[in-house]
Amino acid sequence: MKSVDGHLDEVVAAVRPLSPLDLQILDAQGCVLAEDVAAPWDLPPFDNSSMDGYAVYAADVAGATPQEPRVLSVVGDIPAGSPELDRIPPGQAARIMTGAPMPAGADAVVPVEWTDGGIAQVAIDRPAQEGQYIRRQADDVHVGTTVLRAGTRLGAAQVGLLAAVGRDRVVVRPRPRVVVLSTGSELVEPGEPIGPGQITDSNSFMLTIAAREAGCLAYRVGIVPDDPRTLIATIEDQLIRADLVITSGGVSAGAHDVVKAVLSQLGTVTFERVAMQPGMPQGFGHIGPDRTPIFTLPGNPVSAFVSFEVFVRPAIRRLLGAEPLARPLVQAVTEDAFTSPEGKRQFARGWLAGTAAEPVVRTVGGPGSHLMGSLARANSLIVVPETVTEVPAGSTVEVMILERRLS
Ligand code: AMP
Ligand code: MG
Repeated sequence: MKSVDGHLDEVVAAVRPLSPLDLQILDAQGCVLAEDVAAPWDLPPFDNSSMDGYAVYAADVAGATPQEPRVLSVVGDIPAGSPELDRIPPGQAARIMTGAPMPAGADAVVPVEWTDGGIAQVAIDRPAQEGQYIRRQADDVHVGTTVLRAGTRLGAAQVGLLAAVGRDRVVVRPRPRVVVLSTGSELVEPGEPIGPGQITDSNSFMLTIAAREAGCLAYRVGIVPDDPRTLIATIEDQLIRADLVITSGGVSAGAHDVVKAVLSQLGTVTFERVAMQPGMPQGFGHIGPDRTPIFTLPGNPVSAFVSFEVFVRPAIRRLLGAEPLARPLVQAVTEDAFTSPEGKRQFARGWLAGTAAEPVVRTVGGPGSHLMGSLARANSLIVVPETVTEVPAGSTVEVMILERRLS
């Protein structure tokens, strides 16, 4: 049997990051930057007010109180967007709005709430600290600084920053297009009635969402019966829109395991037994004129899910150009005892809780690879090394975090 690490190394080495594209920033959502982005100007680009109020000399309002306000004449009105401004002389004030540039001379902003709101002159009833409510030029970012590095995934805040530094387009690696199909003559669409011996297809939904969560544009093709010709025709039809193909089912030793039967003949997809539980039967290779990578995952839903996490997600991250490839692992103390098969790496479904300083984990459900109910209640996978067969309660284990926010 092949080791998990050996198989992972092989699949990761067999995929290449997608070629970069120049995209409008709104279209770059979820993509990974393929260039470093530097700020062409300071952020903020100029000193500006962080409040609606009055630009003043702090010295002019020293000692102001509600009983003895300082009264200043108001020489101007500065809305956001004002261009070059005249210097204001000492003893005077200018009305200023949030985001408007500070006039030369003034060294503080007094919020309108501390004043009578006057237009020709203003009574100010509190003293001001020099510099208060002024956002200084470059206090966020200096001109020329790299604000986003190649390899950064673009979410809302990152796209906002691109816009703030004036970028309308950006060079990114595109989101991989992933085609997902399920094989099995026993499968029916959810929403349809199930007859005797039938089950609904859950894998293609699960894997499509998993691929999207990993940053792909994923297309669910759905169910393909265990028929060699239909299978090969369906895969060939889909290659046009795929950077990666994922199938599930039909890779074990059964008489009707058509994925293995059909794709083995092509000679470009290899089927192997990987020393893991769940997920032992794995297939990986390339298919079609563009040598599109294809993963053929086992049909049992938990096996398919774990295989995705262990092999497909790292390969997707490589296509994306994202690092690190692997999910974060944390060490946690297990609350329950459980066993693990000799010679296989076990990925037990877990519930990670406790605190960041003292994480604890317990198993969720048993080892059966059909246990969808317990998979959906897990937030992590407990990774048990090949050499370990007994995990006592209270021992330290490695945990792969799937989802931090589940409760
Ligand atoms: P196979 O790998 O095709 O032998 O399938 C192994 C087990 O997983 C069988 O019990 C199948 O019925 C089940 N299975 C296969 N594909 C799916 C699917 N798409 N959704 C749910 N269960 C599946
Ligand atoms: Mg099957």
